[in-house]
Amino acid sequence: DSLLAAMRQTIAVRDSGLFDYPLVDDNFKVRDVANEIISGLTSEDAFYIVDIGSIITKFELWKKHLPRVEPFYAVKCNETDCVLQLMATLGVGFDCASKGEIQKVKEFGVSADRIIYANPCKSNSHLKAAAGAGVDLMTFDNDAELYKIKQVYPSARLVVRIRADADEAQCPLGIKFGADIQVVPHLLAVAANLGLNVVGVSFHVGSGCSDLAAFPRAIEASRAIFDLASQMGFNFSLLDIGGGFPGGERSSAAFSQMASLIRLSLDEHFPEGSGVRLISEPGRFFVTSAFTLVTCIIGKRQAKLESVKVNVDDGGDDNRGEDHPGNMYYVNDGVYGSFNCILFDHQVVTAKLLHDYDEGTKLYQSSVWGPTCDSLDCILPKVTLPSLEIGDWVMWPDMGAYTVSAASTFNGFPKSVLHPVIPRSFRAMLKSCEDETDEIPVCSPRLRTLSSSCGLSLDMDLDDGKLSSVMDNI
Ligand code: PLP
Repeated sequence: DSLLAAMRQTIAVRDSGLFDYPLVDDNFKVRDVANEIISGLTSEDAFYIVDIGSIITKFELWKKHLPRVEPFYAVKCNETDCVLQLMATLGVGFDCASKGEIQKVKEFGVSADRIIYANPCKSNSHLKAAAGAGVDLMTFDNDAELYKIKQVYPSARLVVRIRADADEAQCPLGIKFGADIQVVPHLLAVAANLGLNVVGVSFHVGSGCSDLAAFPRAIEASRAIFDLASQMGFNFSLLDIGGGFPGGERSSAAFSQMASLIRLSLDEHFPEGSGVRLISEPGRFFVTSAFTLVTCIIGKRQAKLESVKVNVDDGGDDNRGEDHPGNMYYVNDGVYGSFNCILFDHQVVTAKLLHDYDEGTKLYQSSVWGPTCDSLDCILPKVTLPSLEIGDWVMWPDMGAYTVSAASTFNGFPKSVLHPVIPRSFRAMLKSCEDETDEIPVCSPRLRTLSSSCGLSLDMDLDDGKLSSVMDNI
């Protein structure tokens, strides 16, 4: 079950391009890499540093905590080439929502049986494209979809998506998708009448789920649907537990706690040997912490800040220069670019200055804005910062999920470019995979530290993601 075994069965690592990324030390600091990149820049354009090792560590973490559940990475979360290439190489499956995503994933050598078309409402032309690509596993949650599939792709293997909302989630999804449990008997009856092949159940508790009981609840509900389906003559063999797992640099303890509850529930309702294949659709879990955005201050002015609508915490007590009107900073990525996550993903972003400042440095009430001409383009309406200058750089950690994938070039501002880097030990792992030597590390040094620090116990303190993690390498 090792990482390398998984990688060997996929495309040749040699051809993957992963060896071409610049090497960094295992304990590298994003700050140092950022400084190095900036020193070589000819313009002040914003950029991302992508830690390939962080994604591999997440993969290992998944294998360790949810070994029975196959991840199908949710492409929508971050569809950059470096992410898709790595996922393809790691041997994970893919959750695609459109023909475009299916095509893109297939370009990385991924076979159709590693893809689930997880969009309950698909257009006819996209369904035909899925059929042409041989992607036959797909979700539905309404009877109109069943009639459509009967017409366009009658041999498809269908998964009924049920509604299973978490009490708390960053992005609840149940308002748009998921059949209410009471409707499922009707849907199965329609499918049976149409002679369609329904093979299992899926759910999504909501993206950025912070309700630990949501997964066990949904798994129990799925069990009831399996039993009902069996009475109706179906032979279900697949459970898809969706996404919703945390991915920030300090979220590994929260993930392990969530995973231990999921394991318990799966062992009770879908034990090993039950013949049910378990899959999932994690997105932000894999990519959030791997991406750090680095922006440059391109403008500064002073203005009264009272008029700025406050919707984030300003960070508490400090020396904030009471008589000062406030500093407005303009950086070269904004809500029409990477920071669309503030609007669409309800993300709270954190600014870290590239250069340290002394403890006694005076702090001022400030706001941070994107580069476009729209006043909606506000990144931080109220934050305390030292006095910064045009040309200073600001880092934004945990920017891998639902950022680049929905960024636009509105107003002519380019998308921030990517600088993937690969830590030495991870490159060595990939290399030994290529060489097929016997001396293969079972897991990376980072995971070894992480495993001993996060554990598997159920009584762990969640503390709102404030637990420290060795992945905090900013
Ligand atoms: N699967 C589906 C169908 C989704 O809609 C989403 C996110 O919206 C995901 C998976 C990924 O969710 P997450 O990023 O929370 O893991």
